[in-house]
Amino acid sequence: MDYLIEKVAYLKGLMDGLEIDDRTNEGKILVNIVDILHDIVHEIDDLNASKDELDEYIQTIDEDLSDVENELYGDDDDDEYTDDSHYIEVECPHCHETVYFADDLFDTDNELYCPNCNESIYDEELSDLDD
Ligand SMILES: [Zn+2]
Repeated sequence: MDYLIEKVAYLKGLMDGLEIDDRTNEGKILVNIVDILHDIVHEIDDLNASKDELDEYIQTIDEDLSDVENELYGDDDDDEYTDDSHYIEVECPHCHETVYFADDLFDTDNELYCPNCNESIYDEELSDLDD
């Protein structure tokens, strides 16, 4: 944009330097064309400035909206250990206490131990509790 403004400014300077006579018909037309060009590039520059302001404003609103969405629907990145649906309820076969395990623990080969009696809870005892 600055490039266009500079070119028109240069053209205006050139017209002064060449002493274009605005009392002739051609001179009047040229002076008016350059004036209009000058107005147009400055008008576009103003529009660009408002557009940049709007872009910034929209981005701020978008970020705020994301915050609201995360607040309402939960953020998939960090709700894994706060949302009850990610826990599996298990009755310990040893002490019969109801205990909870994060469901991603079942995706690993790690043995699960009851937090109440510290006995191992085997997968086969969970198979009929699977949801
Ligand atoms: Zn137990």
